Amino acid sequence: MLDAVIVGGGPAGSAMGARLAAAGHEVLVLDRAEFPRRKPCGECVNPAGVDALRALGVLDAVEAAHPARLDGWRIRPGAGEGFRGRFPRGVHGLGIARDVLDMILLDHARGRGAEVRTGVRVTGVLREGGRVVGVEAEGGEEIRARLVVGADGLRSVVVRRVGLLRRAPRLRKVALTGHVDGVDAGRGWGELRAIGRGCVGIAEVGGGRFNVTVVVAGGEARQVAGDPEGYFDDALRRFGFADARRVDEVLTSGPFDFPVRRAIVDGALLVGDAAGYYDPFTGQGIFRALRGAELAARTAGAALRAGDLSAAALAPYERDRRRAFGPGERVQHLVEAFVSRPVLLRLVSRRFSRRPALGDAIIRVTGDVRPVRSLLRPSLLLGLVR
Ligand SMILES: Cc1cc2nc3c(=O)[nH]c(=O)nc-3n(C[C@H](O)[C@H](O)[C@H](O)COP(=O)(O)OP(=O)(O)OC[C@H]3O[C@@H](n4cnc5c(N)ncnc54)[C@H](O)[C@@H]3O)c2cc1C
Repeated sequence: MLDAVIVGGGPAGSAMGARLAAAGHEVLVLDRAEFPRRKPCGECVNPAGVDALRALGVLDAVEAAHPARLDGWRIRPGAGEGFRGRFPRGVHGLGIARDVLDMILLDHARGRGAEVRTGVRVTGVLREGGRVVGVEAEGGEEIRARLVVGADGLRSVVVRRVGLLRRAPRLRKVALTGHVDGVDAGRGWGELRAIGRGCVGIAEVGGGRFNVTVVVAGGEARQVAGDPEGYFDDALRRFGFADARRVDEVLTSGPFDFPVRRAIVDGALLVGDAAGYYDPFTGQGIFRALRGAELAARTAGAALRAGDLSAAALAPYERDRRRAFGPGERVQHLVEAFVSRPVLLRLVSRRFSRRPALGDAIIRVTGDVRPVRSLLRPSLLLGLVR
């Protein structure tokens, strides 16, 4: 029998597959898509994500694909100048198209010994005596494994079938993602522009090509669905990128707010977006997928060796995940509260533009290179209120 079947070959599933296979376990990664495939995403790997790629042993292959380098972010509410936040010296993020990045990660998993099958859609989980013992794929194929890993992203079928979805999304947003040429945006800097309750993120993904991701309130969903390309092209003009030329089809996604009750049950665990997601604004998802896989593989490896895949044996992963991501998730909620209230965002931006240390501090926290508690430094708090 397989040691692990991993549902989803995105960053979380590929990293998990590579790590378990490298440790000598027999692993199968399944993905419904054929690769390379595009994925709705701002396509920025934050600095901690770059470290996670290095730890996985795949950074050289990623660098060889000539990604863009990101030194920080510029945040502009409305037409105002806004503020900048720079990553610490010697630290940077990367902009890279997801079809390229995810293909590299999946090939890496194969190279480490994982079997990969694409074009296979998982439709359910198999249970015996209350524990998960495998998955069922479209067409009725049953695949048994000692451990099932749900790495199937937002709207995870594994999450739903094991009953871990906490509630339906409350925060309802819609995103449109496309690549454009001809943008006059600063190299080395990502930029976020907010207008009203909508915002647009723009960042180079290498070779002078830019990712543009427009995020709007869920109330716009019908209009977006009717003509995604038209909506996107119009948003480019509204957000001040009149010269940009769209070069591919627009991908739509949303809503994003899918919390889970926990990430483990008897015989299965969740990793990446499947283990809970909230909002794309701070761009930390790829890091959490890679780092989450690192934490999950550590616990899963020990549980496989001990021959105990019960929820109790998988509990160290749950604890590690909460410790690693819990504080950052609370900051993400706070940031979203400001972003969706233009008056607040303008107020904060004015203050941040006068005190560059504030912008640096928040960008370093969302880049996962500084702990959340670094925001509580007295000098920063004073700067915020004075
Ligand atoms: C609009 C938007 C912008 C974002 N911008 C950024 C950003 O700039 N930086 C950042 O770090 N993060 C960003 N994120 C988040 C990031 O995209 C995710 O956190 C990341 O992709 C999570 O990786 P994953 O492996 O968990 O899931 P995914 O990358 O979604 O991979 C899941 C895989 O599972 C497969 N799958 C799904 N269902 C099944 C099934 N039933 N059977 C078989 N296979 C299945 C899918 O085909 C997919 O390949 C953004 C997200 C959105 C929506």
